[in-house]
Amino acid sequence: MQLPLRLTPAPAYRYDVRYRYSSTRDPPHRKDMSASRPDSPIRRADIEEIVREVVRARAGAPSGKTPPVLRVDASARHCHLCREDLDILFGKGYELTVFRELYQKGNYAANETVTIIGPRSRLISNLRILGPLRKQSQVELAFTDAIMLGIDAPIRLSGDIAGTPGCFLMGPKGMCELKEGVIRAAIHVHMSPDEAGYYGVKHKDMMKLRVGGDAGLTFNRVQVRIDPATRLNVHMDTDEANACGLHLTKDIELYK
Ligand SMILES: [Zn+2]
Repeated sequence: MQLPLRLTPAPAYRYDVRYRYSSTRDPPHRKDMSASRPDSPIRRADIEEIVREVVRARAGAPSGKTPPVLRVDASARHCHLCREDLDILFGKGYELTVFRELYQKGNYAANETVTIIGPRSRLISNLRILGPLRKQSQVELAFTDAIMLGIDAPIRLSGDIAGTPGCFLMGPKGMCELKEGVIRAAIHVHMSPDEAGYYGVKHKDMMKLRVGGDAGLTFNRVQVRIDPATRLNVHMDTDEANACGLHLTKDIELYK
């Protein structure tokens, strides 16, 4: 059964809040009551359990079983920088300034942008920097961006950049070469341990994300990333969002 979804006002900025969906999970597992024929003996405990489940399904599940609010964000191409590269690009000791806080606490889109230059001298300007700084610089592109630049970007989870292609970045104060770090970020879902408990999944499990609507499709490899500091949030890139018409639908379901 598909539960109705509510759409809350969509904020303007694509790195942050776009759509908020209530979860489309089925109500807690209802038993098939037709299986209990009148002539079959039913234990009192079974009846009580069935009643409890029906009440739960109607009144909303008890705490711990409440469907978490599922939020799906499309991340436009962006980069993360290490201290050393920020120094080269913007000047020694430069500090990023916050353009917009992201849904995941502590993360933000910076006002600062850089230009990425690929091996054929093709470039994309206004590549947004996301803060805070990281140990290693990394560029996350959609396949469309990577093809345009002439970079054969592999699908990787953020942070897993060993052996990936590099690029040049240009900032107002200088230019640096990343020896590696250009990826297409794999679609993934952040969740807290409680939310993982709700779905019955472990860190690095794969889940499915079904997107309804005219361009609807199902993503079969949504990798789970569990962290107590995060909130339930699917991250896909702009190619994926455009392919499934993310902006066209309210009908989205995350399941194992
Ligand atoms: Zn993410």
